[in-house]
Amino acid sequence: MADTPVNWPFTPSPLAIDIVGAQGCHLHARDGRKILDAAGGAMVVNIGHGRREPGEAMARASSAVSYVIPPFVTPQRMQLAERLQRDWLPPGFTRLHLSSGGSEAVETAIKLARQHHFAKGDTGKWKVIGRDLSYHGATVATLEIGGHAARRAPVAAMARETPKAPPHYCLRCPLGKTYPTCDVACADEVEAIILREGPDTVAGVIAEPVVGSSGGALEPPPGYWRKLRAICDRHDVVLIADEVVTGFGRTGVRFASEGEGALPDIIATAKGMSGGYAPIGGTFATERIAEPLERTGDAPMFYTFSAHPAACAAADAVLDILSKEDLMARARVMGDRLGARLQRLKQHPNVAEVRGRGLLRAIEIVRDRETLERFPAEANITMKVLNGGLAENVYFYPGGTGAQRDVIVLAPPFIVTDAEIETMCAVLERAIDRAV
Ligand code: PLP
Repeated sequence: MADTPVNWPFTPSPLAIDIVGAQGCHLHARDGRKILDAAGGAMVVNIGHGRREPGEAMARASSAVSYVIPPFVTPQRMQLAERLQRDWLPPGFTRLHLSSGGSEAVETAIKLARQHHFAKGDTGKWKVIGRDLSYHGATVATLEIGGHAARRAPVAAMARETPKAPPHYCLRCPLGKTYPTCDVACADEVEAIILREGPDTVAGVIAEPVVGSSGGALEPPPGYWRKLRAICDRHDVVLIADEVVTGFGRTGVRFASEGEGALPDIIATAKGMSGGYAPIGGTFATERIAEPLERTGDAPMFYTFSAHPAACAAADAVLDILSKEDLMARARVMGDRLGARLQRLKQHPNVAEVRGRGLLRAIEIVRDRETLERFPAEANITMKVLNGGLAENVYFYPGGTGAQRDVIVLAPPFIVTDAEIETMCAVLERAIDRAV
């Protein structure tokens, strides 16, 4: 055994730290370090690390029913479905599909949009319009609709070049406009694309209600989402909200799209649904989306591990804790405090913007705050800040895309304390000072 080299991870990474335990907001490394998880893993951990309830529920589920394919009903599947519909999903979201994570949930959503039109006989409607700076997953199809050019590049030959709308990146508006005089022109660009492509070829539009890691907590200007809704209605296009990051309270409300005053047709979720205790994703749709499929006897495809009983049990336990301990309200309160503390970093000469909502926050680092000039890619500022944080036992999330560099995301568990917020912000400030 000792002769066999162990290649984990696949290629070397500065994050290959041996984590042997985790409690609250901290990861416990084998060498004794306690690392503050300022990113909740990857915007995942909400109830905190080390709770016993999800694991105990998983053990009970596995002893009862280890596995049975999805159309079968199990108590864990039903309990989770009931809880989702009763306590979490916006009104009208009556159709539930479960998978194993965000990429599968989004891929199911885009296929469902296409299937909806296909079942209605609109077989030419297949394109899904995404946006630059968005990330929707790591499968070829989700990389195709995503706007993370660097991650798409290696599979560019396999992924079609589908049109992308400009993001609502008001700090550097891609249209050269300023809110509010812009009248949210970036949303109008979605309609311009639909008209250019031909509405009879477009099945859906996908957007993150608050752009998570790739854009770095980019919030839409007021009215953006309502415009998207109206555009989709005008052209019989399905509106998909990618709430993989924002779902289940991360922004202080159940789903961020709900807070925008216009509901989508399909919601894709994952991360916070199980708070990291088990791999699970969910794609939720309205009756209007499902009705044509029901008529033709069609259904979204399941993956082998869709709605796994143990994963459903873990998600049910996590959502129970979120409700019983009122942690979404806590995400709002602590999110405001994190936002307020980050505002102090705004004085830093290399911080261009502090942004975000709830416990999904980000800062953008630049060489020159006045001109917004970025550091060159070779300066590797994001990795330097990340490593600077780790040197002081704080883990931040590296945001941004190839084009939009040097974004640091903070998304701690909802149980984060004032002292932990102070530590992560003070360490972040020092890490920036050392990196630039
Ligand atoms: N959608 C968004 C907005 C994401 O941020 C992610 C992952 O970070 C995904 C989809 C893909 O989720 P997963 O990594 O669970 O496949």
